[in-house]
Amino acid sequence: MSLLTITHLKVHFPTQDGMVKAIDTIDLEIANSERLGLIGETGCGKTVLGMSIIRLLQPSTKIEGEIWYKGKDLLKLSEGEMRKIRGKEIAMILQNPTTSLNPVLKVGDQIAEAIQLHQGLDKRAAREKAVEMLESVKIPSPDKRANEYPHEFSGGMKERAMIAMGLACNPSLIIADEPTKGLDVTIKMQIVKLLKEVSRRKSMLFITHDLGVATQICDNIAVMYAGELVEYAKTEDVFKNPLHPYTQGFLNSLPNMGLKPIRGMSPSLIDLPSGCRFHPRCDHASAKCTIEHPPMVEIEKGHSVRCFLYT
Ligand code: SF4
Repeated sequence: MSLLTITHLKVHFPTQDGMVKAIDTIDLEIANSERLGLIGETGCGKTVLGMSIIRLLQPSTKIEGEIWYKGKDLLKLSEGEMRKIRGKEIAMILQNPTTSLNPVLKVGDQIAEAIQLHQGLDKRAAREKAVEMLESVKIPSPDKRANEYPHEFSGGMKERAMIAMGLACNPSLIIADEPTKGLDVTIKMQIVKLLKEVSRRKSMLFITHDLGVATQICDNIAVMYAGELVEYAKTEDVFKNPLHPYTQGFLNSLPNMGLKPIRGMSPSLIDLPSGCRFHPRCDHASAKCTIEHPPMVEIEKGHSVRCFLYT
């Protein structure tokens, strides 16, 4: 059963250089207990999708479409109603804990603040729960660590603290935005293991440019390119039978798959290519690809692709 359903979502930002079409157009569902990986290169619109779900976008943003969560269209809720959902029902683990944690507040106090806000516990009980949360993400000596400031935490510990904060109110949906970015391999694997454990029986949108990490955590993968989805499938199918030339290129660029980068650069979201947005970088592009925009088509059950090679 679907927990979150996104239909015809468009998110555009006006800038001095023109309209940035960060999302244009996306339809997506996340089921109860599903861990969905949203992968793509930096700047393809992945983070904007996460921010759209919890409505943390600048006021000038133009949003169209619907985001249904437990019978409510989040895009129609007032800011007050959204505040009750953010953190409590849907939590976002933001990328870059160094800038996301408040440097002048003790880590335990930051987690306790979120707990007090959403669970109505008094200060002492919230503080005890914060220590419990630090323990649950395997921070050693959580009592002592709760009294420390973010700069006293290592990179991996800061990420664990962010995960603890995200989980503090027992949300139904976790949006994890590049939680392993910038971590060394050993710490990355520890965080992946932790996320796998804590996301059991929860729904998670796992946003990453790291397909290798996504495959270890996610049930399904949605591949995003230039503001739209280009492939959606079970994780094993994306690996064994990638259909879209962009997904194939993404796989070939992994260190254990030959490290062969996709030629060219991602297009500007202000000035998107005509036809298929991937055509300037695609080795299979035909004349049709430069003119017509391919639709997303389900090729086999649960496996959809946006490419004229399959239609
Ligand atoms: Fe390549 Fe054409 Fe498929 Fe786009 S539609 S990915 S250009 S073959």
